[in-house]
Amino acid sequence: MRNQGIGSWTARRARKTPKRTALVFGDRRLSYAALHDRATRLAHVLRDRGVRRGDRVAYLGPNHPAYLETLFATGLLGAVFVPLNSRLADPELVYQLHDSGSSVLVHADRSPATLQAVHDGAAPRAGIAVGDPAHPADLPYDALIEASSAEPIDEDVGLGDTCLIMYTSGTTGRPKGTVLTHGNITWNSVNVLVDVDLSGDEVTLVSAPLFHTAALNMTCLPTLLKGGTVVLERSFDATRTLELIARHRVTSLFGVPAMYDRIAADPGFADADLSSVRSLLCGGAPVPARTIRTYLDRGLAFVQGYGMTEASPGVLLLDRADSLGKAGSAGVPHFFTDVRLVDPLGDDVPPGRRGEVLVKGPNVTAGYWGLPQATAESISDGWFHTGDVAAADEDGHIRIADRLKDVIISGGENIYPAEVEDALLEHPAVRDCAVIGVPDPRWGEVGRAVVVSEPGTATGEKDLLTYLEGRLARYKIPKSVVFTDDLPRTPSGKLLKPAIRAAHGDEQAAVTLHP
Ligand code: ATP
Ligand code: MG
Repeated sequence: MRNQGIGSWTARRARKTPKRTALVFGDRRLSYAALHDRATRLAHVLRDRGVRRGDRVAYLGPNHPAYLETLFATGLLGAVFVPLNSRLADPELVYQLHDSGSSVLVHADRSPATLQAVHDGAAPRAGIAVGDPAHPADLPYDALIEASSAEPIDEDVGLGDTCLIMYTSGTTGRPKGTVLTHGNITWNSVNVLVDVDLSGDEVTLVSAPLFHTAALNMTCLPTLLKGGTVVLERSFDATRTLELIARHRVTSLFGVPAMYDRIAADPGFADADLSSVRSLLCGGAPVPARTIRTYLDRGLAFVQGYGMTEASPGVLLLDRADSLGKAGSAGVPHFFTDVRLVDPLGDDVPPGRRGEVLVKGPNVTAGYWGLPQATAESISDGWFHTGDVAAADEDGHIRIADRLKDVIISGGENIYPAEVEDALLEHPAVRDCAVIGVPDPRWGEVGRAVVVSEPGTATGEKDLLTYLEGRLARYKIPKSVVFTDDLPRTPSGKLLKPAIRAAHGDEQAAVTLHP
């Protein structure tokens, strides 16, 4: 085969294990041979619509086999797949379609109004609708595939060619299109297979959105590389998750901590049959110790990870054997990936000291799409500067402290808001909170807690600050508390600190944010 990229994976699987089930979606089952046939036909459809090597094809919608078919079809052509976050608002979608220069949009479940806005704003050459066409210009996905040629396609696609443009979550600013090659995606899957030990009889439940890097790259693609089965769900539902685990004898699943908490809170959790499960993968934030204990009581240990879109995404992994003993740590680097923690001068910090996390490895991006300056600022000598602060212990286990941009410097001391937020969230009256820095004439900057209180509870500034005394060093305790009804988050649930600073910081801070 000339194609060395992930577009060749379905062909290679169809050669090795054609009859095995690749995908289960509701009542549908697709073997590897069938998945390869559909990807090949879709590649012809795209080629007929003018898609050539390097051209961008966007996908917009909830989880659906069409997402993976489009990914593999673009891979067959050497074209570039652009997964869009279906929770974004219309102008954000238009921006990403425009920014990526996508010429075809494959979409499912969009309202006609959204599609009109998308067509008006970005004008892709063709819109292909999965399910009922929502726009007059839409072409029907299934009918096109069925009518298309199934002639094998074997383009010369190498590991250095671009596979995906994936947008970051936009927590610290506008989402950046991250250029990921076939090599980046392949090496991340290899890291997962080496470190998590997924096997050929894996049955992986994927209900987290595939437009985020973690669901796609930490479970779905490694399972398909290995020849296991992916049980794909449109979206996450705790009760259904428990049913599906029992019905399909699921062996691994991926979620963020909040999803695992919702599963554990489900009335069916106590009696659910979880005997098939081997790996509970979790990432995006540290799993709280109480969640770890709840699952350990059921004989299940978490495999926790830390990563980012730019690393395809795996950087650190905490082995299941250490899940409780090293609770709060994100683990050690993946097998083929290297990590340094450095001070502002770029020197490595010793264990116990905090430094910025730098990452290097075959899974790490070479840069952002159309953003040469952001690329130059974040990658030097092959090391990607994550903007996260962390410290290693004597065993080399790394604990993420917070984002560099969110660190508050108060009287020369660094305050990591995430630590203060964790302490505040232990208070029963605190439903949600964010800690930001506000200017202070004496200390330069001091912390301010922005709190959403639990309905039906009564608390005040003094009560919360007293609560933190004894739990945190004095300098870390915020100097003020403001209450609010809601905190803005990214579609993936991360606090949008720039917006919170603009709304709840001091005027002076708001002015510098919007020069
Ligand atoms: P943007 O780069 O646009 O501001 P983002 O960084 O939130 O958005 P992602 O690539 O989706 O976009 O998220 C990666 C970030 O998520 C990491 O840099 C880190 O800050 C955070 N993160 C990921 N895993 C963990 C973890 N286990 N513990 C703590 N933080 C984590
Ligand atoms: Mg980021």
